[in-house]
Formats: sequence, structure tokens, C-alpha cells
Amino acid sequence: MTTRLTIPDADAMEALGARLAALLAAGDLVVLDGPLGAGKTTLTRGVGAALGVRGSVTSPTFVLAREHPTEAGVPLVHVDAYRLNSAVELDDLDLDYDGAIVVVEWGAGKLDGVAESWIDVAISRAAADDSRAVTIDGHGSRWGELDAALAAPAT
Ligand code: ADP
Ligand code: MG
Repeated sequence: MTTRLTIPDADAMEALGARLAALLAAGDLVVLDGPLGAGKTTLTRGVGAALGVRGSVTSPTFVLAREHPTEAGVPLVHVDAYRLNSAVELDDLDLDYDGAIVVVEWGAGKLDGVAESWIDVAISRAAADDSRAVTIDGHGSRWGELDAALAAPAT
């Protein structure tokens, strides 16, 4: 099932991250796709805030992966796969996929075989304004009920 959302601004993107975080547990993997400036790090910041990350979630571009302890107990591992070419290289990072919530920027197509279940989030920018079109797909047995949980609450 595919969830399609229009996210008007950065705050709404963080709020989406928080809704996503509420569903995530150790061993879960979220793959973020979209061009530079799409809002991948902004979404991850919302995930991190909801999990009670200590410190701030910034782009891990120069470190490839950063592990954040959280108040929720399960660490958030934030990966920037921009310079990686394949699942093999991602594997080389020796990430604790099972013990953490893993969010990977630029991970589309590079995670073959890494997990049985994962969430794909694709973000694209609108030409006319700041809004982003966000498409969310759950894969594998874990994510059958994703749709309803991610819709923005009615205001
Ligand atoms: P990425 O990690 O995909 O390169 P970032 O999250 O670092 O993107 O940057 C997105 C930028 O766009 C931020 O400066 C953010 O404040 C801004 N922005 C404006 N509108 C939105 C929106 N609707 N969703 C997400 N970010 C937005
Ligand atoms: Mg980023």
C-alpha cells in the first residue's frame, strides 16, 4: 500500500517524522529518497525528536553514519549513503540493524537483502512552492497497516 501526502513546510515534515517514529522499533529500517534539499534530514530530525534524541540530528554527510542515543532507549542510526554504491558497502559500515532504528538517506536501491521489512519514503519538491510530495511504501510482512497511521491528523 502506498501513502501519498503533501507536506507544506518543514514543521509538517518534522511532524511526519514524529508520526513515523511512533511506529518504529529496534530492527526497523527507513529508506529516504529524494534530491538534495528535499527534506530527508528534516524528516529524520522529526523522527529523532520524537524518540528523544540527545543532541541534534544533522546531516551525517561527512561521517556516513551517526548513532544517536535516545530517551526511548533504542538508538537512532542515521546514515548518509550518498557516496556508497551498493549494499555491500553499506554492509561494510557494520551497522547494528537489529538493535537500532536505522534511517538511511540516499539509500534507495542500495539496501537489497539488508532487511526483510522496510519503509521507503520518496520526497519530491514542488516547482511552485515549498511543499513536498511524499510517497511512503511499506515493504515486507511488518508494514501492512502503515497507511492509516501516517495520515496527518485532521485539523
Ligand atoms: P535533504 O536532507 O533531503 O538534503 P534537508 O532536510 O537537509 O534536505 O533540507 C530541506 C530544506 O528545505 C530545509 O532547509 C527545510 O527547512 C526546507 N523546507 C522547506 N519546505 C519544506 C518542506 N515542505 N519539507 C521539508 N523541508 C522543507
Ligand atoms: Mg540530508
